Amino acid sequence: MEDLKGKVAIVTGARRGMGKSHALKLAKAGTKVTVSDISQEECQVVVDEIQKAGGEALAIKCDVSNKKEVDQMVQKTVEKFGRVDILVNNAGICQFKSFLEMTEEEWDRTLNINLRGYFLCAQAVAKEMVKQKSGAIVNIASVVMGQMGKGMAGLAHYSASKGGVAALTKTLALELAPYNIRVNAIAPGAIDTPMAASTKTDPKILEQTLAIIPLHRMGEAREVTNTVLFLVSNASSYITGSVIVVDGGWLAG
Ligand code: NAP
Repeated sequence: MEDLKGKVAIVTGARRGMGKSHALKLAKAGTKVTVSDISQEECQVVVDEIQKAGGEALAIKCDVSNKKEVDQMVQKTVEKFGRVDILVNNAGICQFKSFLEMTEEEWDRTLNINLRGYFLCAQAVAKEMVKQKSGAIVNIASVVMGQMGKGMAGLAHYSASKGGVAALTKTLALELAPYNIRVNAIAPGAIDTPMAASTKTDPKILEQTLAIIPLHRMGEAREVTNTVLFLVSNASSYITGSVIVVDGGWLAG
């Protein structure tokens, strides 16, 4: 992954969990990274860690559902690093609620962050990548996305948003290919992050979850990060419009 050296990446939702793992590993590969999330202070902690290890990074507070903040994030990245080569659309929320009790506000909030936010970030970054005639975008979807993936009771809004992310990925791959911009998605299964904390802390839920995962364990953030690095590097130069499943075999069953 030598080609990642000197490239510029934006990772959203990067103060913790998988986003933090993606940011740290990209920086380790020599990429300059904008670490973005809703808390400036917590982004700065990740940036400090990168800088301490000799990498280059910038902390930017950005709510991905807010177009003004998204545009500023891209603008500040270009001001600091001169370009944007990579976007990892990672920020997301996942709150269980039965469909019959779900409020309009809960539906809108999930779709605004998980789907509209991906659209806003991808569009703002793609406008820069089009000028350069190169780029790679990775959208983090989920195995919970209907059709080729799964539905999941209690997650109507989340499943709809992630199904939308998969559809968005394929369409952007078509529209951006003429500019040499590749767009792919990753569909993680159960990954051990703060978002999935309830899976780990409730022994019954953990047992039920592990029972349907052939590798019989939750995934680690770094195992998704490895796929992110593959998809943004030249190692995947002929892959666009794909959704790569990283789930310990969950969907195979
Ligand atoms: P996480 O630890 O909760 O990290 C997600 C980060 O995104 C959090 O820091 C979160 O902040 C931030 N965020 C939420 N709303 C935001 C907004 N409007 N603007 C910017 N940042 C925002 O979760 P994770 O497990 O690493 O998840 C990363 C991605 O993987 C998500 O898209 C998730 O849907 C997806 N995924 C996760 C799993 C899993 O099992 N963990 C499985 C499949 C897919 P707050 O904490 O303040 O909300």
